Amino acid sequence: MRVYDLRSDTVTQPTSAMRAAMLSAPADDDAYGDDVSVGRLEARVAALLGKPAAVWLPTGTMANQIAVALHCDRGTALASLPGAHVRIHEDASAAALWGVQIMPIGGRFGFDIEALDGLLDEEACGWPPVSLVWLENTLGEAGGAIWPLTTDQALAPGVDALQTVSAHVRAHGKAVHLDGARLWNAHVATGVPLAAWAETADTVSVAFSKGLGAPAGSILCGPTSLLARARRLKHGLGGAMRQAPALLAAAAEYALDHHVERLADDHRHARMLAAAISTLAHWEVAVPQTNLVLARVRPPLRRAEPLCAALRAAGIRCYPNIAREVRFALHLGIGDDDIEPIAQTIRSALGEDPTRFVDAQR
Ligand SMILES: *Cc1c(COP(=O)(O)O)cnc(C)c1O
Repeated sequence: MRVYDLRSDTVTQPTSAMRAAMLSAPADDDAYGDDVSVGRLEARVAALLGKPAAVWLPTGTMANQIAVALHCDRGTALASLPGAHVRIHEDASAAALWGVQIMPIGGRFGFDIEALDGLLDEEACGWPPVSLVWLENTLGEAGGAIWPLTTDQALAPGVDALQTVSAHVRAHGKAVHLDGARLWNAHVATGVPLAAWAETADTVSVAFSKGLGAPAGSILCGPTSLLARARRLKHGLGGAMRQAPALLAAAAEYALDHHVERLADDHRHARMLAAAISTLAHWEVAVPQTNLVLARVRPPLRRAEPLCAALRAAGIRCYPNIAREVRFALHLGIGDDDIEPIAQTIRSALGEDPTRFVDAQR
């Protein structure tokens, strides 16, 4: 049985060409800051994002946590979407490591300046001071939806364009961080240059381990003075991994050369899969904007896990995004010819009649 792993776009295997690039990379000690492979990648990504400085980090989680530390004093708050990675997937580290409280604002697809003003007004009435406003693009928890940059793009209700939000935050003298783990997808889907998105934020993190297909690694970009502190924090958190970053930087360089434009294939595959499974009575499927397909179970079903269990038994690895939803991630391990077999496996594993899953519902 062929197994298709659709749990995340992190599950990709490095291709043999990527492995070859890693093996032939010069590899010096990154803790001394003189490794040429890491240095070249940092300079390249800083230029792509239009920021003066960049630091390579082993994970996006570390990049985000360093961003929290750079911008926020203990006992202050950061404002983010309720479903932001930093709020729900980083084990409460903003609180645990830095004494920072996350204040959720907005909905699934973004927030508007009215929501932000609500929080800032309360700050004047004694709520924790907001030191940082947190953006994310694409929105992982919202199935890879794109938070639009400008007002001429369609905006969901209660969402302002990133340029509007950013100008408003800056007028209040607050800092902005953009978690751009999947910013590459927003760039490829819209054609908007990476630097235009990055311009809305003081610091930006981007990942090589999602759609770009490298084994690990992220980069944090921003002003030179902040990034000097970021390097010390990287060292303090145990992120200066000697010769290993050189190999991972070589994988990232390879990915920048070969795996950015191909993200359009993942987006097309996501639309194909969504169309194929939207005919099933089990769930409601949104039209994907990028590489993630969100399928929400329809009543009388209330939990997606029993469906996921049936899919796993049939060779489709997946798990609930939230209790009522499955998220299928498309990535470079899935080709044009895989979509129909995947859709067919899903159809036959679930069958026509959703009610047979009702008994398994709590
Ligand atoms: C995956 C992800 C991260 C964390 O990246 P890791 O390298 O897995 O730690 C941060 N933010 C977003 C939006 C992500 O999707």
